[in-house]
Amino acid sequence: MAKAQQKAGKTTQDYIDLESKHGAHNYHPLPIVIAKGKGVWVTDPDGKKYMDCLAAYSALNQGYNHPRIMAAAKEQLKTGVTLTSRAFYNTKLGEFLEKVCEITGHDKALPMNTGAEAVETAVKMARRWGYQVKKVRKDQAQIIAFNGNFHGRTTTIVGFSSDADYQKGFGPFTDGFKLVDFGDIKALEKAITKSTVAILIEPIQAEGGILIPPKGYLKKVQQLCKKNNILLIADEIQTGLGRTGKMFACEHENVKPDVYLLAKAISGGFMPVSVVTANKAVMDVFDPGSHGSTYGGNPLGAAVAVEALKILQEEKLPERAQELGAYFVEQLKAIKSPHVKAIRARGMLIGVEIKRESGVARPFCEKLMEKGILAKETHESVIRFAPPLVITKEEIDWAMKRIAAVLTTEAPVK
Ligand SMILES: *Cc1c(COP(=O)(O)O)cnc(C)c1O
Repeated sequence: MAKAQQKAGKTTQDYIDLESKHGAHNYHPLPIVIAKGKGVWVTDPDGKKYMDCLAAYSALNQGYNHPRIMAAAKEQLKTGVTLTSRAFYNTKLGEFLEKVCEITGHDKALPMNTGAEAVETAVKMARRWGYQVKKVRKDQAQIIAFNGNFHGRTTTIVGFSSDADYQKGFGPFTDGFKLVDFGDIKALEKAITKSTVAILIEPIQAEGGILIPPKGYLKKVQQLCKKNNILLIADEIQTGLGRTGKMFACEHENVKPDVYLLAKAISGGFMPVSVVTANKAVMDVFDPGSHGSTYGGNPLGAAVAVEALKILQEEKLPERAQELGAYFVEQLKAIKSPHVKAIRARGMLIGVEIKRESGVARPFCEKLMEKGILAKETHESVIRFAPPLVITKEEIDWAMKRIAAVLTTEAPVK
């Protein structure tokens, strides 16, 4: 053991062992412990530096330890008010909801904590809207979602996943969902009935492997919704808030959904904060007693989120994602790799699909880690690069040398 480690006490392995001993094994993390962070950089307990190209699945779009978010959090902590519950009002929630409405263009917002809770909230909202406004027959409401979707991990949500790993052993599942192929407008049209209340869609399937639908698809989905009186719910929990080069991925096709689901980067990685936005006619189906969450709308989360959203706008992070994402992809494409099957990207949401004969993506991620780059595989064969949007051109150049080294040497696993 090195001297510095002995002095610091615990080593990377100690932290890993402790988590593994007492934690449920529902994750398979790379063997890196993050002890400190700043911008795109993190440091492990042994003092080794890495560039984080996962950014907590895009929750850290503003980068680690953003000074303005840190200051907003400290300011709120100093008031001594971190949680009021919704039994009372607080001084921060209104400002947060106003900011969210300004950004989304909707006039109402409902705060929750996690992304999955936002999805659950939207399911309840769409169903109630279906019965009260659309006059769907009692308990007949249908929501259409897509093969390859990822909307979270609750029992209702995994019930309409098409991924066997997400479902195995967790049934019975909630009724009222139908799946169609992502990108196939005819299949979607066919699946619609008079009981369809909502279409729940990720504008880009990120967990699904950075899958981008054909040009014009989202627009057609919106037209189908309008024609059939169906709510279009865009799950922009990962694609929203600048990641794809626009504030929302829907904007790439000038689509304004009826409902936005936001989480992850809404708090810049400081707190679990999520939100559902819609216009009054839809949101008003909720009345006192119909929905809630103890921590939802807490003033600490609200204070942090207001600042995190302002930073996206004032530091022009969507524009940065557009510009530097294009640069990142251009550099990636210039690498002559025998392992890369395809590169799919929008803004700074970048997927590198590994050829079957080169094995799965995980060993490549392990190799990248050894070189100081943190990236995580999604769907076995895809390496996702989604660094904080505050990344600079120089930092991309630094990363690219290492990525090129990994992608041009022999496949790590045969
Ligand atoms: C992460 C994610 C969720 C779930 O969010 P949690 O905060 O993990 O519950 C839902 N939808 C999408 C598209 C996501 O990326």
